Amino acid sequence: MQPFVYDGLPSRVVFGRGTLSQLSEEIEHLGCSRALVLATPQQHEQASRVLEQLGKKGAGLYADAVMHTPVEVTEHALQVVKELNVDCTVAIGGGSTIGLGKAIALRTGLPQIAIPTTYAGSEMTPILGETRDGIKATQRTLEVLPETVIYDVDLTLTLPAVMSGTSGINAIAHAVEALYARDCNPVIALMAEEGIAALARSLPVIASDPTHAEARSDALYGAWLCGTCLGSVGMSLHHKLCHTLGGSFNLPHAETHTIVLPHALAYNAPAVPGAMARIRRALGCDDAAAGLFDLGRAVGAPSGLAELGFTEADVERATDIAIQNPYWNPREIEATGIHQLLSNAQAGRRPN
Ligand code: NAD
Repeated sequence: MQPFVYDGLPSRVVFGRGTLSQLSEEIEHLGCSRALVLATPQQHEQASRVLEQLGKKGAGLYADAVMHTPVEVTEHALQVVKELNVDCTVAIGGGSTIGLGKAIALRTGLPQIAIPTTYAGSEMTPILGETRDGIKATQRTLEVLPETVIYDVDLTLTLPAVMSGTSGINAIAHAVEALYARDCNPVIALMAEEGIAALARSLPVIASDPTHAEARSDALYGAWLCGTCLGSVGMSLHHKLCHTLGGSFNLPHAETHTIVLPHALAYNAPAVPGAMARIRRALGCDDAAAGLFDLGRAVGAPSGLAELGFTEADVERATDIAIQNPYWNPREIEATGIHQLLSNAQAGRRPN
């Protein structure tokens, strides 16, 4: 056994079907009694029902969360926090809503309950990305880790089929990169392999039947494991490329992860034989990169960045940006290889 450091993250996880009904008890468990419910405008109605369910423990609703946590939105939400004199937040939604809860916690110390309805995994991480004047900066601090996470499988039944697939492969990306992280450890490696396996077997089922409760349960379980991987160890080339494509080319988060992952893994493959063996085992196939590409096809995701409006001409600029200040990566980052990787991802070629 290699020496390792394992840093456990302190959060309470409630998992199951219908667990939203335990929200009131979970607020009490935190010693709180006046919750502000957070959501995006798209989930306003769902969040209103949650507020109603809380009765006296529900102080109000703020449903203006948007992608990438702009500080102006946070500042507006902070006024509501103050006006309503709330003592905790309840974020119901995906990474965008949970990001707002984290941004409020950072500034106020208010405890958070996260109720994730996608597979992005933010609820399990001490990471917050915020946007100021169009520039996104990410920080890692335990102050933003939600105290309690309620996973309710029933809330994921409404996540549209293709979005479920790309969100799930976004989660797989966290586990894939955790397996070859510099600071990986045996516990995280177990979680990563199990998380990839749970998502890989459930996502194609969800693609053909989004209301399949058992597959939804497997996928959410996988998303929890993969989110824990993201929160616990460092990410490498794949996440750097996706941050570049999201930040500088405004490409959508989950779809970009889905398209880039097989190519980033093919690039790193020669340097990480142990991780490759685990990913093959989790996917149940002989070629991990091709297996992830095929999973993208099985869930109906776009195959190439071209379908998101990223052109051949963009490959050059994206390569230049991606190789500046690179994250640590198991294989040396060299411009020709990254250019080829992005060109393959742009065109939607199957890695082999
Ligand atoms: P999202 O939160 O932006 O949600 C996308 C859309 O889907 C929203 O309109 C949302 O309201 C809707 N939606 C969510 N769940 C639904 C459901 N069950 N049914 C119907 N509609 C639903 O998407 P996301 O991919 O979860 O999050 C992306 C954001 O999260 C990005 O800004 C990303 O950077 C961030 N993120 C942060 C971390 C972290 O650790 N800090 C981790 C992952 C993602």
